This record gives sequence, C-alpha cells and structure tokens, in this order.
Amino acid sequence: MKEVLLRLEGLLFLSDPEVAVMSAEDDGEVFWIGVTRKSAGAECPGCGRWSNRCHGSYLRFPADVPSAGRRVVLRLQVRRFTCADTSCGRKTFVEQVPGLTRRHAQRTDRLRSALAEVGLALAGRAGARLADVFGISVSRSTVLRLVDAMPDPQPPSPRVVGIDEYAMRKGRVYGTVLVDVETRRPVDLLPDREATTVAAWLAECPGIEVVCRDRAPFFAEGASAGAPTAVQVADRFHLWRNLGEAAERCVSRHRSCLRTPFAVPGSESVTTPQAPEAGASPWPKGHRFADRTREMHAIVHGMLGEGRSRRAVARELRMTYRTVQRLADAATPEDLFQGQWQSRRTKLDDFKPYLRERWAEGCTNAWTLWKEIQTHGYAGGYGAVRAYLRLFRDAVPGGRPPSPRTVASWILTHLTSFRRRRG
Ligand SMILES: [Zn+2]
Repeated sequence: MKEVLLRLEGLLFLSDPEVAVMSAEDDGEVFWIGVTRKSAGAECPGCGRWSNRCHGSYLRFPADVPSAGRRVVLRLQVRRFTCADTSCGRKTFVEQVPGLTRRHAQRTDRLRSALAEVGLALAGRAGARLADVFGISVSRSTVLRLVDAMPDPQPPSPRVVGIDEYAMRKGRVYGTVLVDVETRRPVDLLPDREATTVAAWLAECPGIEVVCRDRAPFFAEGASAGAPTAVQVADRFHLWRNLGEAAERCVSRHRSCLRTPFAVPGSESVTTPQAPEAGASPWPKGHRFADRTREMHAIVHGMLGEGRSRRAVARELRMTYRTVQRLADAATPEDLFQGQWQSRRTKLDDFKPYLRERWAEGCTNAWTLWKEIQTHGYAGGYGAVRAYLRLFRDAVPGGRPPSPRTVASWILTHLTSFRRRRG
C-alpha cells in the first residue's frame, strides 16, 4: 500500500517534496486523496518568520483536476501554527502548500488556472457548461471571477503607437484608444479625449518613436506634449479622404467642362456615328480601354526613349515583360488594336452596316436593334451588339459624361495601378 501511495505522489503531484499522499479512496463518484504537508513548520505570511509551534490542525477539501472521469477532491490536513514573533499582527496562521493551495480557495491552483483558461476561451456560461462535461461543477460567475483574478499580461512597450477616438455612447461620450501599430493590438483605453490625458499616457512610455494620429487638435497637442521627440504621422486614411474630397469638389466646380467630352468642334455628325469603317481604328478616342492602351503606349515609349531597358520598364510599371514588349514593338497604339481585334471576323460583321444605318436614323436602343437583326438572321448574343453600339455612343456627344467622382478617381489613381485594376 505504501508503495502505491508513493506512486500516486509521483503521478498526481510530480513528487513535490512538500506533499505527502497518505490515503487514496474511490467511492464510485469522487476520488478522495488524503494529503499532508511534509515540512515540520511554516513561514508566517505576516512577518515571514519560521514557526514550528503547532496550534492545531483541521481538514480542508479543495477540488483538484478530475481524473479518469472522476471528480478528485483532496482531503488535506492543514496545521495552524502560532507565530514566533510576539510583535506580529497575526497570532496564528494556517500553512499552505505552495503551488497547490491558497487562503480560502476551494480549488487547487491547477484547477483554478485550468478553469480560467476555459473561461478565457469560452467566457462564463459556455465555460461552465464545458467544465461540467469534464466533471467539474462550477458556476458561470465563478468562471468569470477566476478569469478576472488572472494577472493582466504586461503588453510590451510600443514603439509605434496609433491614437484614435472610440465611442462609449455614439455622438455623446468619447474615449481614446491606443494601438500598438506594429503588433496591431490595442494597448490601452483612456476615459476621455483630452490632450492632457493623452500627454500623461505618452509620457509614461519612454520608448515611443512614432505617433500615428488623425488630425484632431487634442491628439496633436497631446502627442507634442507627451512625446516631444516622437515623429507624428497623420493617418493615411484621413489624408487620402481629404485629398479625395478636395479633388472631387474641384472637379465638381468644373462640371460644365465634362458635358461634351468627345465632341468634335464644328462637326455636324451628331447622329452620324464615327463608326468603325473598314481600315479605320475600331477604337475611337474616348473609349476607355483604347485610351488606356494609348496612354500606356506613350508611357512605355517615353521611358524607353530615356534609355531604360524593357526589363527595367516592366519592373517599374509592374507589367509582365511580354506586355512591355508588345507595347514597345508597336510603332503606334493603333497597331495594337489592328492585328488582334480587327482581323477577327465575328457573327456581327454582316449586320454592322445595318446597325450603322439604323443608328443614323436615330434608333440607338441596343435591345431593339438586337431584336431587329435577329429577324434578319443574326445568331449572336445581345452583349456583342451592345458593345458595338457603345463605340457609337462614346464617339458622339450626348453620351453620358463621367461623374466628378469618376474624374477625381482618375486624378488620384497612380498610372501603374491601372494594370492591376484591369487585371
Ligand atoms: Zn508572524
């Protein structure tokens, strides 16, 4: 029997030199383990003096981590000692097993930390339910209390800190949230959005090198006062938004200029479309794809003209080498349209003269025209008709002018991202 208890000591308490297993008993529901502490005395928690003057003993029954589907409860014999220091405020004290028990605790330390982890993952109600599956009876509020008692993890002092406001009551009460920009984790919440509060917080973190903020004056003041040596960076989001709004306002003021974007001055061809005749470019000015191709053609030739290699151009514009080669080999952008798009015969070709004629008569509805050529034997889809008629639409005034927002986005979009957006 003695040997079995020693084995249990090793198994359940990893041969803790403080713990002696005295008995083990299984009543079918609970596995009871009789435990005592080996040391002859204990340290007074009040004054730290060692005492071995035993005043009495009693039993405690802390629950331990379940084993083999059974609840495990320790039958822990603890002694009460008299403090050896007569000036100590505690006359007597109860011994604790370090790493296993603490004052007034009804659970061993390892069961407490296991439940706290469950609580962290699932919170109170679900945590208590899962614990019950493993044979630990616990209330949801106890699970939350154990989580609450966990020591707060000390976040590393941030180097780059982001400051923004958050709403406790939207439109009424705002606080300040501080985020470690490098780990993308919130670091702290401040109860208001006052410059002094922000400054006081920043002053306590000496390692801050960069402060990212929006353009609110209280953050600017707070950052200057609390971290005078840190670089202040305005949020890219706010800069972009301000710039975007300014560009859109500016374009809006010139809205009237957008009315007749593709009109040929003095031309009387309002209803005579600049339709693709044989041999002409099928991509008139004002067609989005054609314009971009022309633009990229000009950029690539410009860069090559400055003496850069094709490979360098491809790298800089983030294009494939093949695309750069194609643009570089074409003397004019029209060459690019010719080979690829014009030589291919489509089902629509035979009906194009008819469509041109009808357009000239004033019928510009793609659906109507599609129905009409179907009666003449056209077997293709509506999409091809619509795409062909769009060339007419883009070529004549009266086509819809681009919105100020669209024009603003053209102004703000970097040329190299055209390709990415198209792809
Ligand atoms: Zn004492």
